[in-house]
Amino acid sequence: MFDLAFVQQLTLPEKAALVTGQDYWYTAQIAAHKIPSIMMTDGPSGLRKQAQSADALGLNGSVEAICFPGSALTASSFDQSLLYQLGQQLGQAARANQVSILLGPGINIKRSPLAGRNFEYLSEDPFVAGELATSYVQGVQSQGVGVSVKHFAANNRENQRFTASSNIDERALREIYLSAFEKVVKKAHPATIMCSYNALNGVLNSQNYRLLTQILRNEWGFAGVVLSDWGAVADHVAAIKAGLDLEMPGNGEESVQQIVHAVQQGELEESLLDTAVLRVLQLVEKYGLTQDKQPLTYSKEAQHKFAQKAAEDSMILLKNEEQILPLQKSDKIALIGELARQPRYQGGGSSHVNSYQVVAPLTAAQQSDYAVEFAAGYTLDSKDSTPQLADQALQLAQRSDKVVFFAGVPEQDESEGFDKKSLDLPRNQVELLTRIAQVNPQIIVVLQNGSVVTMPWEPQVQAILETYLAGEAVGAATWNILTGAVNPSGKLAETFPLQLADNPTYGTFNANTTAENYYESIYVGYRYYDTKQKPVRYPFGHGLSYTTFSYSDLKIDSTNDQVQVTFKLTNTGSVTGREVAQLYIRNLTSAVDMPWQELKGFQKITLQPGASQVVHFTLKRRSFAWYNSQAHKWQVDNGSYEIRIGQSSRQIELRQTIEVQLGVEPKEDLNLNTYLKDIIYRKDLQKPLAQAGLQASIDQILTAQSNSTLLENMPLRALVMLGAKMSQIQTFLHLVRQ
Ligand code: BGC
Repeated sequence: MFDLAFVQQLTLPEKAALVTGQDYWYTAQIAAHKIPSIMMTDGPSGLRKQAQSADALGLNGSVEAICFPGSALTASSFDQSLLYQLGQQLGQAARANQVSILLGPGINIKRSPLAGRNFEYLSEDPFVAGELATSYVQGVQSQGVGVSVKHFAANNRENQRFTASSNIDERALREIYLSAFEKVVKKAHPATIMCSYNALNGVLNSQNYRLLTQILRNEWGFAGVVLSDWGAVADHVAAIKAGLDLEMPGNGEESVQQIVHAVQQGELEESLLDTAVLRVLQLVEKYGLTQDKQPLTYSKEAQHKFAQKAAEDSMILLKNEEQILPLQKSDKIALIGELARQPRYQGGGSSHVNSYQVVAPLTAAQQSDYAVEFAAGYTLDSKDSTPQLADQALQLAQRSDKVVFFAGVPEQDESEGFDKKSLDLPRNQVELLTRIAQVNPQIIVVLQNGSVVTMPWEPQVQAILETYLAGEAVGAATWNILTGAVNPSGKLAETFPLQLADNPTYGTFNANTTAENYYESIYVGYRYYDTKQKPVRYPFGHGLSYTTFSYSDLKIDSTNDQVQVTFKLTNTGSVTGREVAQLYIRNLTSAVDMPWQELKGFQKITLQPGASQVVHFTLKRRSFAWYNSQAHKWQVDNGSYEIRIGQSSRQIELRQTIEVQLGVEPKEDLNLNTYLKDIIYRKDLQKPLAQAGLQASIDQILTAQSNSTLLENMPLRALVMLGAKMSQIQTFLHLVRQ
């Protein structure tokens, strides 16, 4: 048992060694005190345990592991139990490889569709990100392996990621950028949190006391270790003072000496160092795998199957006109695009996995008993068309019934470490697609990309299947969806705009090399598009199925501490399917800016054809809350709210306005600035108005006919212009306050 008394027996250099990495992936080992080191390894969608020479960016080899779908795809499952199972699988793989801490999940909000790491993050919506990350963390930690929830916080761009300051107003910070972290910390108790490279409102996150101590620990009760992103520490002493426990990977002996010196010089209180040391030791004690005398084993075959299931449960059918999908065995099918043969199935950078067994869509198709022929059509290493490849593809399209066109973003255009400049697909792909549309309009596009792409070509095709980065089983999963062996059930966890310029960060994202200014505040993703009523290509929450669903019988019951919502969901089609029912709340009450609606619940339900199920949601106080940055607290205003149930943010099927009594009555604070229209019509104020001698002035307003609206839109203090005396107004306020 490590405790403070134990820590105090350690020498200063030993303590200093424990708060910095021993090397790239290990904490310090102190043999004299039998303190083992523990290993950490990336990443969110597969184990990247480096065998030999280490590097953070995934350039060197790592052990063979299952490459699961990336988070952009798994989030589209909208399925907590799937994320829990994914976590379990990752935990098993980590444990079998003697890895104590898995560096994930990444839960930053997808603020700009250009952000280079969006493929690794869950959603533009903090509710989805928080719910799914909670399940993932619980899954990993159920295996006795700890997580590192990253990157804390507001790390929403890659350019200048080590230095740029994310400048965010307090309300947006709380409601959008911190709330997923808050949920995970409170519900799943992650072993560690990884602080991000960037600064927040001018203070580097690795030395941000407010973030790492006041908010994370004091407000949310986080009891684990805060470690730095690799190389995020600029001043280790300042970082410890701010609440950072472990610098990774650190700078070896130099880092140790720096801390020793700071304590000796009185720059760093030893008790602060002791606290960090104790937290690191408790982590080592809890997650050190010394109890596994022999490493556990796991079945890679079973994990590969799970990777396929996770992809199948998440892929999103965006469009399916005239039911061109599923493919039929009688169809002559042209598979076109190099990506069918060489799929893009995982992201670049620290999450890059040395995959166990990649199944390409072309292989899966050729192994099936469908009539398929293939043409590469374009190359991946250039954006220019290759005439010979294009012509072959065109001829194939011409003699086929249906064309399945594989399109996507090549790896070199999308990775950790830099942001994108455009959302367009490569020129050669779009040119070929346009030419094919002229010879065969029966086109199904399969997309492989880490995040949002623009689709000016959308009207030319009949179906679109978004597969994001689907992991090593990409081929089998894609083929099963295309052929209907699996009914698609994914929904978009981010909005696909018509064009980049429609996004609220357009023109300002990455405009400044030292700061990223979050001008749009809380209006991120659908919160912006819906409030501004902008047409979009595909809305947040959208995704089709091979069956259809109907929604009915909405019932809402409010009590003092919660609101119960039920409705009936029915599968009205002819195949079994899964629907993600979504609950949005529209605030009709609060006297502050509010997005048009916000997601506050979702559930994935499986239904046989013709079957129905009653779906039930419980909404608590926080579902109705907004962050009041003047009062520094979450506030719920009693009043009207619309409960909206739908298939997507733009397809609301049921709605009902309710009166909520969970929070506070709007505070009665009559003062000189209270508007007259909020005073003169109130029955309870007639008497004090008369007593104070203000009746004559009020009567002028009430009888002013054409001017009365203008007059009542003046504050109480303006009554002096209608003949009242300031002393009478003060008397009125005095009477009211009594
Ligand atoms: C990334 C982290 C990753 C770490 C270790 C950093 O560059 O930002 O996400 O966990 O490297 O590989």
